[in-house]
Amino acid sequence: SVPAAIAASLSTGARQGLLMKGGVVIEAAAKTGIVAFDKTGTLTAGRPRVTEILAFGQSEHDVVAWAAAVETGSSHPLAMAIIDRAKADAIPVRAASQATAIAGQGVTGVLDGVAIFVGAPRHAVKRARFDDQANAAVERLEAEGKTVAAVIANGSLAGLIALRDEPREDAAAGVAELKELGVRSVMLTGDNARTGAAIAGALGMACKAELMPDDKVAAIKSLASEAPVMMVGDGINDAPALAAAGVGIAMGSGTDVALETADGAVLKSRVRDVAAMIRLARATMSNIR
Ligand code: ADP
Ligand code: MG
Repeated sequence: SVPAAIAASLSTGARQGLLMKGGVVIEAAAKTGIVAFDKTGTLTAGRPRVTEILAFGQSEHDVVAWAAAVETGSSHPLAMAIIDRAKADAIPVRAASQATAIAGQGVTGVLDGVAIFVGAPRHAVKRARFDDQANAAVERLEAEGKTVAAVIANGSLAGLIALRDEPREDAAAGVAELKELGVRSVMLTGDNARTGAAIAGALGMACKAELMPDDKVAAIKSLASEAPVMMVGDGINDAPALAAAGVGIAMGSGTDVALETADGAVLKSRVRDVAAMIRLARATMSNIR
């Protein structure tokens, strides 16, 4: 019977860490034409590492010390990476006063009377002058798929910190398997366009970058006018986008909020499991017709 076939496929999926919340989700997942992936923590492991530190008229030591001090006020993965780097370089991490995270931009605070901003260059340029050398460095680092955090001290650009968050081992293979199923993959990210394009290009997928959480919802709706969309994401930030998609899938290690909003989950945090879920859903639907 149909209910038995659906129950069997739900439990087959669950055994493989492919969670779908009922037959309606299987039916919708089978129709997927586009998978929209969050970048940080979904296509990547979400553990960026500092790769380069550039100092402009300051010591590298001060650039890292200032950055780490204000990052104590942020829970962003980039903040943890910068604080880790300071510790690894034996630079004492002191907490800045008035440390305040600015969503989608960076963080501000004060250390020893120095007003500091650390964040995305596209927002930093409104707070300090970038000369040709600084602009060229940002362009080069972003083209290498790195995220750049600009460090501004008292209104001057003190340095640049480059970070890289490596794609998951199976990300390119997962995107290739989806392509074989006739499914397009699109990366959605708050990161800048150059970094996003570099990473998405290496994975063989399209990219929509510089998105605030609300923009991700708009991006899903616009993709949905082309084909049925499955959204895969991990974080609290992704909950609205998961809800907006035809099917919202949480990536395993994700938050409870994402799991609650989602229609299902890939519990083992494997990108290839997204293709496995769509294959299972399609097989189930063709069995019961
Ligand atoms: P995402 O995490 O998907 O990149 P966010 O909306 O959290 O998107 O942030 C957008 C951009 O703002 C980040 O890519 C980064 O460049 C910058 N940013 C945000 N928070 C911080 C922070 N604490 N330190 C440095 N840069 C940050
Ligand atoms: Mg994320």
